[in-house]
Amino acid sequence: SQVIQLKSRPEGMPTNDNFDQAELTLAAIKSGEFLVKNLWMSVDPYMRGRMIDRKSYIAPFELGKALEGGAIGEVIESLNPDFPVGSKVNSMLGWRSHFITDGTEITRLPDTPLCESHFLGVLGMPGMTAWTGLNRIAELKAGETLFVSAASGAVGSVVTQIGKLMGARVIASVGSDEKVEYLNKLGIDAVINYKTCGDLDAALGEAAPEGLDVYFENVGGEHLSAALNHMKDHGRIAVCGMIAQYNDTAPTPGPSNLAQIIIKKLKIEGFIVFEHWDHYGEFAAQMGQWLTAGKIHAEQTIYEGLSQAPDAFIGLFEGKNRGKMVVKLG
Ligand code: NDP
Repeated sequence: SQVIQLKSRPEGMPTNDNFDQAELTLAAIKSGEFLVKNLWMSVDPYMRGRMIDRKSYIAPFELGKALEGGAIGEVIESLNPDFPVGSKVNSMLGWRSHFITDGTEITRLPDTPLCESHFLGVLGMPGMTAWTGLNRIAELKAGETLFVSAASGAVGSVVTQIGKLMGARVIASVGSDEKVEYLNKLGIDAVINYKTCGDLDAALGEAAPEGLDVYFENVGGEHLSAALNHMKDHGRIAVCGMIAQYNDTAPTPGPSNLAQIIIKKLKIEGFIVFEHWDHYGEFAAQMGQWLTAGKIHAEQTIYEGLSQAPDAFIGLFEGKNRGKMVVKLG
């Protein structure tokens, strides 16, 4: 099996030098086991946190060992009747070409006409994150105004589209004109390019003169500060991520306008999608309907080959992706 290992812990922006590729010899499969060839793997911003040696909601990656993450594969040899040859499976054993397992924590994919890579994106963890944040954390309602940051990414592009389907007016922030155009085409009401708008706070005020009922936070820093200034009384903020800080080497000062939380009586709630996984069935049924009806556009950016995985991962912090960033293997 070809694997990508963590060679050194990144300081600041990760580079290719933090990774290396190695070949591991796999044993023959034993009774109850099967061999999986990975077809797709996911790279996600949370993996940056696992590269730091610290206690968090998920254990850090170990140096000199294969990285881990969501992956979709196909069973190519099997001594396990529950996973016959040809089955497509979802695992957390990405960053490698092949693996042997007894099926623990491996799920079979349902039959679907969609490309199976969408189980890493719109039908998987990022899609579920978008749905959870809007329905279970922010409790978005029809007629409300929603602001979304990192709005063309895996989570953000689904948040903006579900927001429209829920009857909200949706304002989005993205880092390039091409991404602005993409969200305009999806019918998002107002899209700001935070890199070229000059003053994000002013641009947000112009886009949402009525104020914001809900902010779906993916970025932190200046985005949070601007959102706080434009929230309505009793507005809600679903804190999903703060990607602008993941590569910081020193603590970043917080927004200077946190008193807005008091003045506007805001409700701010962080969440981790895995704690809501008992609702995955409900989400998947709804998302399946939306996808079949063509109501959600499932965008992805595809890098090819295991050796491109570090570049795909680093690309998340450079805004290289539109929709879900995935790596096609094999
Ligand atoms: P994305 O597909 O959105 O990829 C990351 C995007 O973030 C980039 O394309 C880039 O877009 C934007 N970005 C990167 N750096 C910055 C920066 N310094 N300032 C502003 N924008 C930046 O990733 P995901 O959809 O997978 O994740 C989005 C957020 O959701 C992350 O914060 C992630 O940690 C969080 N998350 C949280 C989960 C939870 O359970 N709480 C689960 C899954 C994700 P652009 O060109 O627009 O800058």
